[in-house]
Amino acid sequence: MDATPPADSPSLTGLPGLPGLPGLPGLPGLHSVVRCDTSAREWVSWAVGRLDADAHRSADTHLLRLPAPAAAPVGVYLKDESTHPTGSLKHRLARSLVLYGLCNGDIGPRTTLVDASSGSTAISEAYFARLLGLPFVAVMTRSTSPSKIALIEREGGRCELVADAGQVYATAQRLADECDGHYLDQFTNAERATDWRGNNNIAESVFSQLAKEERPVPDWIVVGAGTGGTSATIGRYVRYRGLPTRVAVVDPEGSAFLPSYAGEPAGSVEAVGSRVEGIGRPRVEPSFVPGVVDRMLGVPDAASAAGMRFLAERFGMRAGPSTGTNLYGALQLALEVRAERGRGSVVTLMCDRSDRYASTFADDGWLLAQGLDPAPYLAELERAWTTLTA
Ligand SMILES: *Cc1c(COP(=O)(O)O)cnc(C)c1O
Repeated sequence: MDATPPADSPSLTGLPGLPGLPGLPGLPGLHSVVRCDTSAREWVSWAVGRLDADAHRSADTHLLRLPAPAAAPVGVYLKDESTHPTGSLKHRLARSLVLYGLCNGDIGPRTTLVDASSGSTAISEAYFARLLGLPFVAVMTRSTSPSKIALIEREGGRCELVADAGQVYATAQRLADECDGHYLDQFTNAERATDWRGNNNIAESVFSQLAKEERPVPDWIVVGAGTGGTSATIGRYVRYRGLPTRVAVVDPEGSAFLPSYAGEPAGSVEAVGSRVEGIGRPRVEPSFVPGVVDRMLGVPDAASAAGMRFLAERFGMRAGPSTGTNLYGALQLALEVRAERGRGSVVTLMCDRSDRYASTFADDGWLLAQGLDPAPYLAELERAWTTLTA
């Protein structure tokens, strides 16, 4: 694979007003309009090859099993998405969004990529933009953690900070329009940019990694929703494959997803947006597909903090807060599986690592200032784990 992009060649120019290409005999009566720019197509082909080569030297992420006695009746698994080169499950999404833009003809050799993000997606998009030699601009709120901003800048991206979460979409669209760039629009395109039928998406990967387990078809897969793309991919995949596995979405405080799913009229519950970065949104995002979500669970933010701490203290797993939310919901469903069926398995995700949250969820002083006390929830998690492993 060639590491340098193909040089620009002057595009073919024909005589104006003529049908077809000049000089070539053809059928009469045609009115031909040509938009194909050969050098741009060559570049797209090179770019897709670069993404392919990048994937080729990457490994799949681990499916960890929470360590428990061999006889434990319910297996709890964590798909470790923190081991992608850019540290979160957004690596998959960013790759899909860039491929989608390339194959839609929206990204060419001089296109500036722009997206609205709470940080993790932008880190991954900056990585892929740099891989293709394209400029990248992330539009985020001022509250985004400095460590995420540093990671985006380290990948060569630029950050545009706005006052509140509601502004990010229009600002990203405007910046893209102004420079004739491409708004990747993760919140709209996440559900469509990923091939839900397979193609090594996260669902196919999880099921293939479970193949040799005692209970290879999980009762539940538990995920959070930021774009909603991950839950859409998994929910569609289990239906397409005829699997009985159900999909649960956990939602933090302040999110618009759960009230909408519960049938509350839009606007009747104030959704301010979430403290748990990556999940919970101030609006129901277009990529959230409620029809493939079997159940939703609202998780208090203090319980998410407890989930994070439980993983760190019990298993030495340093996960971020949305993984804490996932764990809290997953152990609830594991308890239900144990009570109703006796045996089974539950899968959830490790979305990213705690080092991105050193000044927020991983900081006791911050938790206290936010009025979050994980202690009672931590005790409940310990009790649940004892029940599950007894
Ligand atoms: C985006 C994100 C999620 C949710 O995934 P979606 O596919 O966007 O719904 C969960 N955790 C973290 C850390 C994220 O960045």
